[in-house]
Amino acid sequence: MVGKRKQQLNHDGQDGFEHPSRTRQQLPQWLQKQELTEADMPYTHEMMAESYRIWLEEAEHFPWLGGQIVLLHPDGTNVSAGAEPEEGALELPSWSIENIGPTAASTALETCRPTMTRAEDHRLPALKSYDSIAVPIFTRTTGFPCGIAACLLPAGTANAGDLKLLQAAALHLRSCIYRDFENLFVEGLLRERKLSNKEEQRRSILFDVMRRLNDHIDVENVLSEVLFSLEELYPVCKADLFLSQDYSSPNEKVKPLAFHLHDMELCKAAFLDGQLREEMIGDHQRLALPLSGKQGVYGVLRLDMPEGKFDEADIDFLKMLAGTAGAAFEKAKLHEQANVLVGELRLINELTQRLNRSLHLTETMQFATAELLQIFKSDFCCVLQYDASTQNFKVMSANVPEMIGEAYSKDYGFCGVTWSTKEPIILSDYCSATPVTSKLMEVTSSRSLLAAPLLLNGEVIGAVMITKREPNHFSYDNYKLLQVLSAHLGLAISNATLHAEMRRMVITDKLTGLYARHYLNERIGRNQLRDSSGSLIVVDIDHFKKINDTFGHQVGDDILIQVSGIIRTSIRDSDIAARWGGEELAIYLPLLSLEQTRRVAERIRQRVESETGPQVTVSCGISEWHVADDKISVETLFYKADMALYEAKHHGRNCIVIG
Ligand code: GH3
Ligand code: MG
Ligand code: MG
Repeated sequence: MVGKRKQQLNHDGQDGFEHPSRTRQQLPQWLQKQELTEADMPYTHEMMAESYRIWLEEAEHFPWLGGQIVLLHPDGTNVSAGAEPEEGALELPSWSIENIGPTAASTALETCRPTMTRAEDHRLPALKSYDSIAVPIFTRTTGFPCGIAACLLPAGTANAGDLKLLQAAALHLRSCIYRDFENLFVEGLLRERKLSNKEEQRRSILFDVMRRLNDHIDVENVLSEVLFSLEELYPVCKADLFLSQDYSSPNEKVKPLAFHLHDMELCKAAFLDGQLREEMIGDHQRLALPLSGKQGVYGVLRLDMPEGKFDEADIDFLKMLAGTAGAAFEKAKLHEQANVLVGELRLINELTQRLNRSLHLTETMQFATAELLQIFKSDFCCVLQYDASTQNFKVMSANVPEMIGEAYSKDYGFCGVTWSTKEPIILSDYCSATPVTSKLMEVTSSRSLLAAPLLLNGEVIGAVMITKREPNHFSYDNYKLLQVLSAHLGLAISNATLHAEMRRMVITDKLTGLYARHYLNERIGRNQLRDSSGSLIVVDIDHFKKINDTFGHQVGDDILIQVSGIIRTSIRDSDIAARWGGEELAIYLPLLSLEQTRRVAERIRQRVESETGPQVTVSCGISEWHVADDKISVETLFYKADMALYEAKHHGRNCIVIG
């Protein structure tokens, strides 16, 4: 109680507390039992001075003794000094027990009795013309003197009646002192209650904030919650949140923690040592509270208090808030990261599944292009394949028409960079300094770029480029994701390439480079389902056995290659030439009339005769099918052509017969 008394004596009068004189009757007993203790004495001067002033007002009609009644503290101080002397009272020398020496006051204090001292007994010359009387004022229950009422009277005038009157005044003074004491006591209680109410309110807000913070699992909400709570609690205070992470918030109060900027020293210190920092800037206080979680410090909360200062309880509260916010931020961040990872895994899983569903290279690349555009919310995407034989990147798929089918040297543009570094690239703005020129960026007027090499066993087999018209579009997370995706994409493309190569081998005749018989059958079968007509030429080298016998098998093979070359260069892209078996070759010509087919066969026949060496000739049998035919089949078509060929042989070879 002693420590707090001093505070309580500083009455601010804002509690709505009524003056006790008006409510005395209603005062509860417990209050009237409150007592001054000796320990309170060092702090009672002001209270006694106030009590004396009240007494002066109330004792307006008190029959003055011819001298001013003063109130002395037991430590000897004149607590009534400074109070207006009663008009007409004697001009008194300033007095206290110390400067008067053994007067009635000191005797009354020692003896605890009313005391009267004659003028001749005074040691100080200034008091030689006064008698002094003094009455101790006792505490109401414990009975020790808590003050002395004293008075100086002209020498030789003091009498027992004066002492009686002083006793009455002392009683009155005591009741004034106790009223003030009770008043202060109640004020103290109210103040304490107010403080504890404030504390309770703060605690309940903190609890609320903590609960709400823990409810949020996304970073943005956590940040808004912290700032909102601060605004609610300290409306005059300016709060800024600086985050060290690669995080951009739409909230304007959330800024990046930039140490190099002016005015950031306090935040820097708080961030580095993870402790609260404070400083005074003129008469305003600034706090920097680190926002820390278990894994580190994420940022700093800076508070500027324009008026006054945060008290100790505020600071404890703010520390707790920053701690909670740090933990919530960390939790939300981890949650977000986990979500991103789960999302990425799901994406990779889906993408690889879908990529591998098709082994068709173009289809795979087109699918990848569409997916990448969507995943990275980008405007353009281009997938290129690297051809080691030509050392070129060829555009396999792109949503940019100007790029389709284009090929670029391995040193050109961003593909060139990925080829030499085998690392992905992230470019925030092509318009500002850029080391290379890029057709893709120019043609599409893009400013942001994400590019990655497609690697297989450490070798570059392609590249993927994703662009956006706006600058600063791609994040570091995008970069990392593309790195992972490009590995899968590389694998899928390599699988599709291998598959395409294998299929090419399966459908191609090794010696002649023409298609194999089963592929020709397959294609004719497909065309017969789709087209209205088509024709077939069967080409057989005349007396081939003789060639073999004369020049050897190798030359025979070479003749086969020569004739195949002549056929390949004599037909349209849409015609299909195949090795039918042995030295028999066949050409299917979709939608061609018999006359047109005959002309093609004739051209081949003539060219073989004139271009081969050693010279050979060929016989050709031609057949056709039409949608109106009774029986449409590959076998029938071949049968008819074979029959025609047989006839051609019969007619002396080196001729054409239409079946
Ligand atoms: P024709 O067709 O004019 O009646 O006489 P031909 O000698 O061409 O007839 P035949 O069908 O009896 O002979 C075909 C020969 O082609 C038999 C075989 O040795 C030869 N032959 C088949 N395939 C190959 C091959 O891949 N390379 C070589 N060098 N010869 C082959
Ligand atoms: Mg033959
Ligand atoms: Mg033959």
